[in-house]
Amino acid sequence: MQVFKFGGASVKNAEAVKNVASILKVYAKEPTIVVISAMDKTTNKLEELVNAYFYKKANIESLINDLKDFHLNITKQLFTDSKNINNEIENVFVEILWAIEEEPSFSYNHHYDHLVSLGEVLSTKIVSAYLNNNSISNKWLDARGIIQTDNTFREGKVDYPLSETLVQTQLLPQFKTTDIVLTQGFIGGTSENYTTTLGREGSDYTAALLAYFAHAERVIIWKDVPGVLNADPKYFKNTKKIDELTYHDAIELTYYGASVIHPKTIKPLQNKNIPLFVRSFVNPAEEGTVIKESDKRNNVTSYIFKDNQILLSIQPKDFSFIAEENLSVIFSLFSKYNVHANMIQNSAISFSVCTDFDEQKMEPLIADLQNDFKVLYNKNVQLMTIRNYDNDLIAKLSENKIILIEQRSRNTHQMVMKEENSY
Ligand code: ASP
Ligand code: MG
Repeated sequence: MQVFKFGGASVKNAEAVKNVASILKVYAKEPTIVVISAMDKTTNKLEELVNAYFYKKANIESLINDLKDFHLNITKQLFTDSKNINNEIENVFVEILWAIEEEPSFSYNHHYDHLVSLGEVLSTKIVSAYLNNNSISNKWLDARGIIQTDNTFREGKVDYPLSETLVQTQLLPQFKTTDIVLTQGFIGGTSENYTTTLGREGSDYTAALLAYFAHAERVIIWKDVPGVLNADPKYFKNTKKIDELTYHDAIELTYYGASVIHPKTIKPLQNKNIPLFVRSFVNPAEEGTVIKESDKRNNVTSYIFKDNQILLSIQPKDFSFIAEENLSVIFSLFSKYNVHANMIQNSAISFSVCTDFDEQKMEPLIADLQNDFKVLYNKNVQLMTIRNYDNDLIAKLSENKIILIEQRSRNTHQMVMKEENSY
């Protein structure tokens, strides 16, 4: 039993879907759970749609039409007779239309999850039908009925015992009649039958959870890069592939923002000692990276760059010290709005936090903090984390930047920086 995960880039168009089929033909010769994300940038488009709906913008119709055309165009290329699959796609769009017909009645996040999750429903319906048409028989399974969460919309907390039971009783028995069970990443459901999501890029996490619940032998994440690299090729030239990482190294890299794997992916795998392979869907025969238990610590220098950060500086209004009571108020507000600190630093009367900038979360968080604290902030800052650093590299990576705060431990150096010309 193994789990495969294919992200948005691996199903971004008809050619890509065909490539997924060819990988499954070769590598899915044993029971395989296949987890698939929404196609290409569909999730971003659906986010725009949620905004348009919730904030009553005028472009709703064109967003829906774009999304529909995008998917229908893919089915046109994949199917000689696309009538059945197009009907299924139409049904999903009917659900979208129903959802936006009425005034918003739930929280933004609740509506978000209902609509945004449909990207995964669309992609998996298309891929499943295409595979079945091309003699790769598979069963489509609705992850909303398997991965059960609480009702923390946009960041559902997974109910492990319940989800495990559902995997054992609903998912695994499917393997009696098929070798491939195909399902959605990123999405889950609640006991009241509401849809939740697990946080952006959460499909990796779904794959890890399913592997954990199903006691899989391995997880393979198929990516458009050859494996885990020592830096993001989007920002850096001359990157190197890392052949092997421990769970510990991997969790640190992803925690600091290496976007190759979702940070929550490692824990379930480490807990059951399931190896994770990151391999290229472009060159599937290449070895990629393996993440597993080992006493070899990795000492490759890696650097992780996070853009679009905000640096908050939080100061008690009454000039009291930043002490335990203040910190507990601050942290509980961060937790209330689901804001994760990427780096924190403390001084006598000021507490600095660097986090991802998400306007939806940031506005209410800052407003709430302002009840007790003076809050200053710097938007558009960048967070650079260097593992196994040296001073030359720090100097090079901060060239022409203003360092706002920095921090180093034995293995890790972090700095929050701003472009020199952005003042
Ligand atoms: N489609 C979702 C996203 O883009 C989940 C994923 O890709 O893992 O965030
Ligand atoms: Mg995606």
